[in-house]
Amino acid sequence: MEKILIVDDSLLQATQLKAIIEDEYDVAIAQTAEEGLRRASDEDFSLILLDVVMPDMDGFTLLKKLQEEIITQNVPVILITSLADAVNEQRGLVLGAVDYITKPYIPLIVKARVDTHIKLHKYRRQIEEQSMTDQLTGVANRRRYDRYSLSKWHEAARLQVPFSICMFDIDHFKMYNDTFGHPAGDKVIAAIAKTISSHLQRSTDFVARYGGEEFVALSMGDPSEKSFQHLQKVRQAIEDLHIPHNPTVSEWVTVSIGGVTVIPETRGVYDVYLKIADTMLYDAKKNGRNQVVWANEQLKQMFEK
Ligand code: GH3
Ligand code: MG
Ligand code: MG
Repeated sequence: MEKILIVDDSLLQATQLKAIIEDEYDVAIAQTAEEGLRRASDEDFSLILLDVVMPDMDGFTLLKKLQEEIITQNVPVILITSLADAVNEQRGLVLGAVDYITKPYIPLIVKARVDTHIKLHKYRRQIEEQSMTDQLTGVANRRRYDRYSLSKWHEAARLQVPFSICMFDIDHFKMYNDTFGHPAGDKVIAAIAKTISSHLQRSTDFVARYGGEEFVALSMGDPSEKSFQHLQKVRQAIEDLHIPHNPTVSEWVTVSIGGVTVIPETRGVYDVYLKIADTMLYDAKKNGRNQVVWANEQLKQMFEK
């Protein structure tokens, strides 16, 4: 059930409004703008019905605050008011309200408008989700990675916890395509993505397809030694899929992995460490492939083989 928040200082009016839509939606009521703002930030609402005239903070001010916050700015807001004049209606729409309902309202029309905006919001979320997901593998794409990586980096810097960046590259993959064909290669990419994801399941873990046959993973909390060991398990699990390769290069399809663990400094630059992970990957390739090379917190290299 989609969640809707009604912000109205009058409990009577909020309850009347709720009665119109509660059969189909999970409806919450906030009786002050402050409470509305807090709940909108803490919970995942699909629509906010906002009364314009309230004591303390009015609906316009709350609307402005909701638009300024990253987590609430995409939640559609319908303004509800008895101010039936064009100036206020225009003001609300300019501030970013998706619609405007004036009191006294006709319940069936309110219901229809709510349904429409819920439908549009769902559609928007779906499009956003698709635009952030790699179609072939179902993991995050480069776009989501670009956003996610920096916010997680800053979070780790704030919390002062170890942060690991890890790059994967499939070994001799050009040869795989040349031998078994591109569609078979696609299946391998998807199978490897699935294996990586299934081993990086914590809420702080993140996996994205970085490029054609390359993946990037981020994780938080574990020191280098533990991350290094965990990624060796992932590498082994991929080898253990036993996907036959061209025997002139290797028996099974394998990956090389390069990683780094660091406790980020507030002013540290993410890209510097990404580059280090990439250098470790390069060394894993140079050292014979199908292995993990890691840089620890002191930037000392650790080799699996
Ligand atoms: P190395 O072990 O050094 O990584 O060798 P490699 O052959 O894997 O390296 P290279 O970077 O030269 O080749 C990567 C290959 O990956 C070339 C490209 O055709 C293939 N590739 C990239 N994206 C896709 C994809 O989406 N599907 C398929 N099937 N192949 C892809
Ligand atoms: Mg590559
Ligand atoms: Mg490769």
